[in-house]
Amino acid sequence: MKRVTVLGATGSIGRSTLDVMARHSGRYELYAATAHSNLDELLSICIKHRPKFAILATDAGAADFKQRLRDAGLSTEVRVGVEAMCEASSAKDVDVVVAAIVGAAGLTPTLAAVNSGKRILLANKEALVMTGGLFMDAVRKHGAELLPIDSEHNAIYQCLPEAAQRLNDSASLAAHGVTRVLLTASGGPFRHFSREQLQQVTPVQACKHPNWSMGRKISVDSASLMNKGLELIEACWLFDLAPGSVQVHLHPESIIHSMVEYVDGSILAQMGNPDMRTPIAYGLAWPERVDAGVEPLDLFSIGKLHFEKPDKERFPCLRLAEEAFALGGTAPAVVNAANEVAVDAFLQGGIRFVDIPVVIEKSLLKGSIVRADSVETVIEADRVARQYASEAINELAGGVVIP
Ligand code: NDP
Repeated sequence: MKRVTVLGATGSIGRSTLDVMARHSGRYELYAATAHSNLDELLSICIKHRPKFAILATDAGAADFKQRLRDAGLSTEVRVGVEAMCEASSAKDVDVVVAAIVGAAGLTPTLAAVNSGKRILLANKEALVMTGGLFMDAVRKHGAELLPIDSEHNAIYQCLPEAAQRLNDSASLAAHGVTRVLLTASGGPFRHFSREQLQQVTPVQACKHPNWSMGRKISVDSASLMNKGLELIEACWLFDLAPGSVQVHLHPESIIHSMVEYVDGSILAQMGNPDMRTPIAYGLAWPERVDAGVEPLDLFSIGKLHFEKPDKERFPCLRLAEEAFALGGTAPAVVNAANEVAVDAFLQGGIRFVDIPVVIEKSLLKGSIVRADSVETVIEADRVARQYASEAINELAGGVVIP
């Protein structure tokens, strides 16, 4: 029996994880579940999965939540705050940590899992983008088992020989004959939108992804291609690749989740219906395979698969992420933080969709980029970038008509 902590249990990835775990209740047991604002969902999770700990990000509603647990006759203990999340990620009783908090908020508890050598199912790409080399060094130092469950990175992982997977630093992917990684992207809901149309798009449209059902932040990131920029950085760190060896392919059907090209001309692709339960089940059971509850893929009904080059002019977020990775140091953390603030402002109707890259670029130009030599340095860069992004938003807000 593996004991699992799910960071971000109330989110889209959290729900999918609990669904897979429930299908294999003899194999996986929920140790701790964390939530931020959705305490109704957390209560339902406690009733169904009976974790040892329920962890709230803040104490808002904690007293009432404890009472509701008691009324339901549950013995789940309630803890509050980041420190409690870190304890749930590092406890000796825990085997697996699913890192599925959205954004920089997931960094500290995810690192706590890394530093205690757990198996980590990484969805929270922002944590890796922010801390890059520090994160991967900690994985190696503490013998953590890092399994990417972002669908693209999981696909790449699946297309690698087991010897390369087990290295977990993949410094020698070239030695395994790998020449390139082909990172697929759906292109999001605005793939064919003109610049003029992009000026008018609403948060509701941006959150309506054509193929995937996801949280609001990643849905906007998919629409702006920032998600692919973050994923490109994620792939470079995970598999120790230079950005030039990772090529983004728009693939609107989202059937191929990514590919690995080998020196003999072979390209291995991982395919499946777009359902996050596949990579989650893979990460939980690796190196075995278990049922994920996912519909089998019917290629006859799909018929055709298409590929296009991304347009970095209409979708500058991809370019900005590439530039940040090339700059190095704290630049990716700055871009990530500015993006989080800009996406939030867009979702709240404060800026237009097309202003997101403007806010990011202004924040990147304003801040000084330093060596990311400690987690504290990165967290400080994140803090300052949020301030710059808020200032950029205030400057923009005057002249903007929100659709
Ligand atoms: P959701 O918005 O659906 O869920 C986010 C989770 O994080 C919720 O449990 C939420 O709690 C919690 N949370 C939010 N803010 C905080 C905070 N300040 N402190 C602690 N917890 C917080 O996001 P997704 O599940 O879609 O995405 C989660 C991560 O996985 C992201 O990094 C995303 O990029 C990545 N990912 C997601 C995919 C998907 O298909 N959804 C695919 C690949 C990667 P609450 O709901 O209680 O407020």
